[in-house]
Amino acid sequence: MAQYTTKALIIGIKNWGEADKIITLLSPERGRIKAAAFGCRRPKSILAGSLQMFNHVEVQIREGEKLDTVKSCSLLQVYRIMSSDFQAMAYGAFVAETASKLAIENFPQQDMYNRLLDIFAAFGGRNPRVAALAAAYQLLEYSGMQMNYQYCGECNCELQEDGFFSFEAGGALCGRCASAYRQKLGEQEAFPYGSEVRAFILQLLQLDWHSKPAFSVSGRVLVAAESLLLRYLHHIFEKPLKSLEFIRQIG
Ligand SMILES: [Zn+2]
Repeated sequence: MAQYTTKALIIGIKNWGEADKIITLLSPERGRIKAAAFGCRRPKSILAGSLQMFNHVEVQIREGEKLDTVKSCSLLQVYRIMSSDFQAMAYGAFVAETASKLAIENFPQQDMYNRLLDIFAAFGGRNPRVAALAAAYQLLEYSGMQMNYQYCGECNCELQEDGFFSFEAGGALCGRCASAYRQKLGEQEAFPYGSEVRAFILQLLQLDWHSKPAFSVSGRVLVAAESLLLRYLHHIFEKPLKSLEFIRQIG
């Protein structure tokens, strides 16, 4: 069986069997990788220390017919805040789960990987709730499932005022197109999308992880941008993310 080595970020871990784990990784060349790490919950396992959530690692994977296996793993970077601060951990888990669902197997994800490295490295210095929101909006841009936030999906005009939003239409709709849309497909197909929410989402998409955060946002706009994102993720994944329960518990 073939064997390969890749750098990767650990974006999911599940206990499995008596002493094993199933690890989900994001690799720049191979996208999402799922592999078993046998024996790694035993205290003496050489894999135990490095195979932890959010770690940046270099792994050696052996491909199997049914299941790939982690043969060795060396640690490149630990993002300490993610394992020491409860809030950062919960929101970080949401970012990781979003990446894990959006990433494709056996498909290069260099851009998503680079962005996730920036996000994990910057997570500590930021409000975790806003950072997680920006991260999820940005990761969507690399998934092929991104939406239009600025231009009407029907007539392509740039939205200037309040508009509407429809997942079916791929995002924003101007007032005129939205009323035609709502008449044709029903009121619930397009919901109001305020200009402040739009401006905030555009800021999140452009958030630079290398410089200090420099914007403020009202609670109302934050909640609206969050609710739009969560509704959309629910729409594409067809069920709520598991990490949301964890966030609710610490909230
Ligand atoms: Zn339009």
